[in-house]
Amino acid sequence: MENEIRALISHMKEWVEVYRDMGFDPPPVPARKAGPGKKAGERGKDQERDGAGIETLEALQEFIGDCKRCKLHLGRKSLVFGEGDPHARLVFVGEGPGRDEDIAGKPFVGEAGRLLTRIIENGMGLQRRDVYICNVVKCRPPGNRDPEKDEVETCLPFLEQQIRIIEPEVICTLGRVAAQTLLGDAFRITKDRGTWRSYKGIPLMPTFHPAYLLRNPAAKRPVWEDVQAIMRRLGMEVKTNA
Ligand code: SF4
Repeated sequence: MENEIRALISHMKEWVEVYRDMGFDPPPVPARKAGPGKKAGERGKDQERDGAGIETLEALQEFIGDCKRCKLHLGRKSLVFGEGDPHARLVFVGEGPGRDEDIAGKPFVGEAGRLLTRIIENGMGLQRRDVYICNVVKCRPPGNRDPEKDEVETCLPFLEQQIRIIEPEVICTLGRVAAQTLLGDAFRITKDRGTWRSYKGIPLMPTFHPAYLLRNPAAKRPVWEDVQAIMRRLGMEVKTNA
């Protein structure tokens, strides 16, 4: 293939010289129709693979279907897509379903999920259905391990499409994995949580995962401060005695 391209270029150069010798300008090089490095058909395939251009969460969920794009499908009972208000102002993003979520097919329904629900309902004064809750990977990593790089890379486009469709005013990442996925590997949860970041122009507040709060009750105070910052950003009244 490389030899053929070289031969073609050499042939074209010869014709340019012939044109010049005859006193003509060489014919113009046709403009590229597709973007750099990709033909139009290839970009279409990207859209097909990632769900780009899909306009509703229902259609995205249908598009993902019985996904087997990464190895996490092998051990899952349920694909946990996410749930909540499709027009939510606030989206919570965790790392992946645990055992309870895998069984229920819903995000954050175990002990850590019940704590998140208390934060939303008792702390923020909202209903759980008022926000949207989802994860970086939609299938449970075995033994509740962190999702691996290839699994995150394969599943991330679905989270990106969820956020694009919902267009929230604020994203709150729960724990290190979700924050690093959306903000980069340099993010350090203990040092950097509680500081406003941006994901594709959307204000993002990284805080601890509720499962961490169950193991470290002292972390509830900083999380409450992060939640208060979110409430202020959304123009909500902050209850000082929560
Ligand atoms: S984790 Fe994501 S990419 Fe992997 S099988 Fe589940 S839905 Fe598909």
